[in-house]
Amino acid sequence: MSKRLVGIDLGGTNIRAALAESATSHGPRSERRSPAGESPESVVAACVATALDACGGEKPDGVAVGIPGPLNPRTGVVFAAPNLGEWDHVDARRLFADALGCPVAIQNDAKLAGYAEWVSGAGAGTENMIFITVSTGIGAALIFDGRLYGGAVGASGEIGHLKVGGDAVCALGHRGCLEAVASGTAIGKNARDAVARGEKSSMSSLDAELIDGQAVNDAAQAGDSLARRIIGDAGGVVGTAIGSLINLLNPEVVVVGGGVMDAGELFFDPLRQAVAATAVEVSARACRVVAAGLGTDAGLAGACAWAWKNFS
Ligand SMILES: [Zn+2]
Repeated sequence: MSKRLVGIDLGGTNIRAALAESATSHGPRSERRSPAGESPESVVAACVATALDACGGEKPDGVAVGIPGPLNPRTGVVFAAPNLGEWDHVDARRLFADALGCPVAIQNDAKLAGYAEWVSGAGAGTENMIFITVSTGIGAALIFDGRLYGGAVGASGEIGHLKVGGDAVCALGHRGCLEAVASGTAIGKNARDAVARGEKSSMSSLDAELIDGQAVNDAAQAGDSLARRIIGDAGGVVGTAIGSLINLLNPEVVVVGGGVMDAGELFFDPLRQAVAATAVEVSARACRVVAAGLGTDAGLAGACAWAWKNFS
């Protein structure tokens, strides 16, 4: 009988789990609310219950967990996970393995979303791929020579902290980070600042705290020129960063995902133009820049694919 392998996508809002059915497919998802803010042990217990739901109550033979924070997959230690609460150097793999009684692999959630896009999404069939997700924050996954690249302690991919200039400060206190300038969070803040300065916009009628990335996209889709400019500027900054990555790494494909891609061409067209203006010709010609294909399933699909890779 085949092994019961489970992928878990642990997020700050929801926990999702499913049975891996092959290297590229998974069964129906089980889901429950994430007890973020409670102890790591409580969060792990909720994940275990979700995994057991996915297995019909049977014990799994191997589990992979995607976790929103920097972590070392070799030691199993999560350095921090601000969306889950006070996770400070938590030995997460041991907590999961003790609670599940089976082998466990942990991996960063953005890396797993990128891994899924590589095995079964927009980057399938390539050997060298960069995945960038632009949402509340900005993260990346790097596939080199057919392998997910980790780095010295597994903390690679933090493209949100690439310095791009300007005075905006990121959540870690750096000035001029990509994430501080062009994330969904930054798009909302840039719009609030512009409205506060008195720039003309349909968003002027909203309470300031309601102007977030989603509200800016809504206004942009309805034709608001300030909202369109702010989203386009963010696309341009992300595209410039991608162009530099193309020059450095010569990938075959760059896959762009995350909530900000809901803005469609308003974000993606300036992004592609900035890539073209930044990347050197030889590398640019060899590289496609495409939208992610798996949507919100990427995190769970990646965790299932990672369980299959590690334990099948
Ligand atoms: Zn930063």
